[in-house]
Amino acid sequence: MNFEYAAAPESRSVVKIDPVYGHFINGKWVNGSSHFNSINPATEEVLSQIALGTAADVDAAVKAARNAFDKSWSKLSGRERGKYLYRIARIMQERAREFAVLETLDNGKPIRESRDVDVPLSAAHFFYHAGWADKLEYAGVDTTTAPHGVVGQIIPWNFPLLMLAWKVAPALATGNTVVLKPAETTSLTALLFAQVCQQAGLPDGVVNIVTGDGSTGSAIVNHPGIDKIAFTGSTEVGKLIARALAPTNKSLTLELGGKGANIVFGDAAIDETVEGIVNGIFFNQGHVCCAGSRLILQESIADEVLEKLKRRMDKIRVGDPLDKNTDLGAINSAEQLAKIRELTAAGEAEGAGRWSANCELPTNGFWFAPTIFTGVTQAHRIAREEIFGPVLSVLTFRTPAEAIEKANNTPFGLSAGIWSEKGSNILWATQQLRAGVIWANTFNKFDPASPFGGYKESGWGREGGRHGLSAYLKGSAK
Ligand code: NDP
Repeated sequence: MNFEYAAAPESRSVVKIDPVYGHFINGKWVNGSSHFNSINPATEEVLSQIALGTAADVDAAVKAARNAFDKSWSKLSGRERGKYLYRIARIMQERAREFAVLETLDNGKPIRESRDVDVPLSAAHFFYHAGWADKLEYAGVDTTTAPHGVVGQIIPWNFPLLMLAWKVAPALATGNTVVLKPAETTSLTALLFAQVCQQAGLPDGVVNIVTGDGSTGSAIVNHPGIDKIAFTGSTEVGKLIARALAPTNKSLTLELGGKGANIVFGDAAIDETVEGIVNGIFFNQGHVCCAGSRLILQESIADEVLEKLKRRMDKIRVGDPLDKNTDLGAINSAEQLAKIRELTAAGEAEGAGRWSANCELPTNGFWFAPTIFTGVTQAHRIAREEIFGPVLSVLTFRTPAEAIEKANNTPFGLSAGIWSEKGSNILWATQQLRAGVIWANTFNKFDPASPFGGYKESGWGREGGRHGLSAYLKGSAK
């Protein structure tokens, strides 16, 4: 029997979007000199005009952050800082629906995910770090050291509010002040967060938000008044930043790309594993740095897993991100869609077998059907490069050693998954894998207490947990 779902759209009336936004500097809104459109990627509707930050805007924000660091924030006790973080966390919870709807409109992700993952996890990061603010001496970090001072934070478009929370919460808990730049296509929840800072009575200049493009990010990176940069985004830009900071005293953490291996052993529970594979690659349209984008299947079960996976993929509901039934929303931008199309065309040209779910895609906006490639070899571009879309590359193995060899054969080292009924298999594989985060019989689970980060070209340093705190204190491990 086929069940049809009636549409269940979330109302957007809870959200008020201004036609034009400025920058949030020193606790006030400052007009931008020029603007660009922020669109809803599901419809291409223009949502608002966002200010393009110049070097002068960045300079004003850095000066405000320095002044706030010297005059107010660094003078407060951890207990006082913690109170502000608790207040921010509670306001985010109170305004959760507003944040979720706005995130979905601006990013294209399903409301089910912004409502149940992005927004609650963002508030959880503020609660978690509020708890540490007055207990840093028990966190195992070197508390004889001081905060860096002014931290420049540059974030991507895949989890706009959550990446802001990952960056801002530990910076404030450890006594730093912040200049943050959201991604060009997804500034709106960061601008709503600025309103939350005002509502929480956060001292002026502690959090500054300058919107803009790569040139604005570069102005933050190269500003002499910045003490530390925290960046999440592409490996390409991460390398540019590392080069720019090499001759300086600025501290740096980088959270970059990935090509996560999801390894399925022959003894895995197949139905649960299929759900985990779907969650691993189709969560957030595959715009996830730690996505399980390479499925590495033991040959003995490959046919059965692939058959069940295709059946399951045909049931993925693609469409209006504001509909509460939707599983897979819009691709974030025309540029990202072009990149996904280019890489999938390369997969076909190099000889891999392409299969896409049978779904109807909306005519407006940016969309890509859930897709898998079989017969992928390690030399194929779709096995080596980050596609950052709802596309899974399937490889097979005969022996556990071959699985590990294939999993580690990547310039990245961010995440991996292992599916097996045997604890000894899992522990053995975990020790062999070069990945910062490894999930066993699950995938894409996040918690503020759990450090996150990668090896090799996936970046430097950890975010979250006690390890993430030390990156915001001078002299502690980077
Ligand atoms: P980028 O790395 O270009 O963007 C990340 C952030 O850095 C954005 O805020 C961006 O601004 C900013 N930025 C861009 N250029 C510079 C610069 N020279 N100096 C300082 N900051 C800069 O990623 P894209 O959005 O272009 O995505 C490209 C690819 O990167 C994706 O296809 C995906 O493969 C990967 N990616 C990986 C992410 C991850 O979490 N690992 C997240 C996002 C992308 P602006 O948005 O205005 O360009």
